[in-house]
Amino acid sequence: MADEFDLVVIGAGPGGYTAAIRAAQLGMKVACIEKRSGKALGGTCLNIGCIPSKALLDSSELFEVISHKAKRHGIAVSGVSLDVTAMMARKTKVVKELTDGIAYLFKKYKVTAYYGAGKLAGNGKVVVTDDAGKMTELQAKNILLATGSDSTELPFMKFDGKIVLSSTEALELPEVPKHLIIVGGGYIGLELGSVWKRLGAKVTVLEFLPRILPVSDGGIAADVQKILAKQGFEFHLNTKVTGAEIKPGILGGTTVVVHAESKDGGKLTFEGDKVLVAVGRKPHTTGLGLDEAGIDYDKKTGKVKTDAHFHTNVAGVSAIGDVIDGPMLAHKASEEGLIYAEQLAGMKPHLDYEKIPSVIYIWPEVSAVGPTEEQLKERGIKYKTGKVPFLASGRAKAMDEQDGYVKVLSDATTDKLLAVHILGPRASDLIAECVTVMEYGGSAEDIARCTHSHPSLAETVGDAARMAYSGLPVNF
Ligand code: FAD
Ligand code: NAD
Repeated sequence: MADEFDLVVIGAGPGGYTAAIRAAQLGMKVACIEKRSGKALGGTCLNIGCIPSKALLDSSELFEVISHKAKRHGIAVSGVSLDVTAMMARKTKVVKELTDGIAYLFKKYKVTAYYGAGKLAGNGKVVVTDDAGKMTELQAKNILLATGSDSTELPFMKFDGKIVLSSTEALELPEVPKHLIIVGGGYIGLELGSVWKRLGAKVTVLEFLPRILPVSDGGIAADVQKILAKQGFEFHLNTKVTGAEIKPGILGGTTVVVHAESKDGGKLTFEGDKVLVAVGRKPHTTGLGLDEAGIDYDKKTGKVKTDAHFHTNVAGVSAIGDVIDGPMLAHKASEEGLIYAEQLAGMKPHLDYEKIPSVIYIWPEVSAVGPTEEQLKERGIKYKTGKVPFLASGRAKAMDEQDGYVKVLSDATTDKLLAVHILGPRASDLIAECVTVMEYGGSAEDIARCTHSHPSLAETVGDAARMAYSGLPVNF
């Protein structure tokens, strides 16, 4: 007899575990299936994504502060040394505590966890096959696909996990590479490049397009490139990688020679000891039985097709997170999970995709909500701009962190807040206020009329909003 559930979730990442817990809290009988080895819940985000990368970004930033920035504050530190093994152990501990936390929540809310690969078997059935090959059949009133995504591999440069790395291995290197070549100037390239740059590696980024961060505001991306170049990053734009050769190094060890072409067809080579391929992620649907179950998906991108309520074309089967359309972000997946579960319980929540913020955790940080200036122009929307640098902030000066600015874009006629783009210290936290005001349909003036404490970085958000609505320069 199959175990019966109101909801069976396949995949325990931020999308899947959030949906499972919320549905259980709302009174449903829920199972969640996860195939990651070691019975680790939490998906890409907790195990090999957001959390380990942020743990290493914070550790490496601390190393940078102690090694270089402390001096500017009158703090002399000598004998600073790096213990990569200890840094990795701390990262692993952070991950373990958080993934164990999900297991605790599953127990607390009585979500039944099944460890193994889930496969659709038709008529509301899901079969779970564990590592030992044992199969368990589950019967579900509703099935939620939350199987996430995997790193995209370049066909001419297969991951070997030692020299040609995906982000997963780049989060686990036992020592600092001498020269890390990164293919792709996107989120992962810049975040993991920052980790290893701060720890002492030479970092070269090869980007196919004429700019880095293709989904970010163009002005911000150009300024990020300048700041990272000052930090020592080497960028090669318009550079099409064509292959890689692994050779013995002159001084022992192994060398990787990456071959590429410039825009004018010129042949380029880059020699390093590791290459990180970070050219995007693709939906993970291997072994899920989509074709057998008749689930419609985009044959080019692999993304499962859903309607606005996450339903696929097959009754009773829905999908959320990285495996469907939209930004591949953990908070997008978890919002969808929450909303899916609440809709199943008869509630009517709604997610406005244009108000999902994004953050790039380099230093200074980058955050955004709403369209880029380029998108507003394409849409023919007339807007006003308030752009205030952190150079004008007393708090940023006190922190010695004056790179960057806040850019507020509001409707030229109504002043409705359209977008905010921030490059600067703690941009990840500063964006929250802007998301809230945008969710409430507020204006730039609404932000400006809120009193921001002094001295704080948030004052710069207020100043940029004041500049946008009034058209007047701020006090500098
Ligand atoms: P996932 O987290 O990928 O979880 C899906 C789970 O399903 C996996 O554990 C997988 O093992 C399991 N699964 C798949 N198929 C099956 C099956 N058939 N049976 C059982 N289980 C299955 N996003 C941010 O918002 N902020 C960040 O700072 C950030 N940093 C990142 C850093 C890196 C290096 C990477 C790689 C990603 C980062 N992301 C970040 C993106 C974020 O991790 C993803 O958007 C998010 O994890 C997607 O959640 P999900 O639940 O859709 O899928
Ligand atoms: P990305 O889409 O952010 O960047 C990929 C980059 O690679 C792009 O600039 C693209 O033009 C370039 N590229 C593609 N093919 C190329 C080629 N053949 N040669 C050279 N360059 C090439 O992808 P990513 O950095 O791999 O990250 C994957 C996704 O994971 C992100 O899009 C994001 O959704 C998520 N992520 C988010 C965060 C965060 O929220 N802070 C951090 C890491 C990852």
